[in-house]
Amino acid sequence: MARVLVVEDEAEIAALVAYQLTRDGYRVETARNGNSALDALNRNVPDLVVLDRMLPGLSGDDVLKAIRADAAMRTLPVVLLTAKREQEERISGLEMGADDYVTKPFSPRELALRVDAVLRRARGEIQSPSGGGRVLQAGSLRMDLGAMRVTLQGGNVSLTPTEFRLLRSLMERSGRALSRHHLLVEAWAMESGVVSRPHTRTVDMHVRRLRRKLGPAGRWVETVRGFGYRFQPPKQD
Ligand code: CA
Repeated sequence: MARVLVVEDEAEIAALVAYQLTRDGYRVETARNGNSALDALNRNVPDLVVLDRMLPGLSGDDVLKAIRADAAMRTLPVVLLTAKREQEERISGLEMGADDYVTKPFSPRELALRVDAVLRRARGEIQSPSGGGRVLQAGSLRMDLGAMRVTLQGGNVSLTPTEFRLLRSLMERSGRALSRHHLLVEAWAMESGVVSRPHTRTVDMHVRRLRRKLGPAGRWVETVRGFGYRFQPPKQD
């Protein structure tokens, strides 16, 4: 379940957006101003941020700058909400590093579609050629989630179910540092409370095996010292 932080000071809009996104299956947290948005982000990095530009105190632009300046959140997807009068500034919003923007007034449904599209793009998701399930792709590495098949340069990579879930977690949040704790909860479906030290060593062991199986693409699973791992495929132009 993807987590979305909605930053909006107008309670009515925040409630509408939260309602729609929750209905679409997202776990939603809301923040009423820039400072509490940063607090929420420091507690727990979501999968995407819906960010109003006009906020009391710290503005949406300031929050976006802070996100892009933070190594752990550099690539965190952000959808900006802009008022009509700010429309001419929308280019600067995208230049500042927003992934998309929606102009007010908007329908919650429209916003939800944008959120979905931005998340798919951020995950490197493409349409499966067979028309079946979702496919994640990074360079020559493809992960067909429906068929549970992983290929590298067209060749089959045989993964255990745990390795598959581990790689999926990493690829779905490509470019972001994920803690061992996060990976245990996601790939091992472990309850957050029972994660202990021996368990985190389990992650390291599985990552080592996964890297070996991925051959040259194994390097894309980077170690984030004292924290966890990050999937970082080489940039392509
Ligand atoms: Ca506002």
